Amino acid sequence: MLPQLAYISYKIAISFLFIILPKRLVDTPRELEWYLRDHFFRQAGKGRTQFQRSAIAGEMTSTYLRYRGYDPAKLAESMSPVLDGLVSMQILKQTGDDLEAAALFRMQCSKCFYVSYLAEKEPKACQRCSGTELHEFPKRK
Ligand SMILES: [Zn+2]
Repeated sequence: MLPQLAYISYKIAISFLFIILPKRLVDTPRELEWYLRDHFFRQAGKGRTQFQRSAIAGEMTSTYLRYRGYDPAKLAESMSPVLDGLVSMQILKQTGDDLEAAALFRMQCSKCFYVSYLAEKEPKACQRCSGTELHEFPKRK
């Protein structure tokens, strides 16, 4: 292979890595929040709205493929500010270690198709693009 060509392929491989890596390895608060809301929504579907703050990280690692292999203690650490945020938004009501989750509605954005989990009192806006045309997801027939 020509040296320039090898260099270019190398550059492409590197930029490709940087596109892929942040998604796989970095837990952004937004992504964590999405998974937490997803978890509360799914559990509410099974009639469960009570959680223990100290147990949530363990539930996430055993429930979600995304968090499989994570150390629950480390996940709990990165989740802590996100849980605090949900408490201050009144999505969660915290009493000691107990959390009570508010009812969430699963809504899809008509513009970007992102699925948001929103509580009754939150503005009905897409959590990715702020679009306000949301419909229940999956759509009712
Ligand atoms: Zn959107």
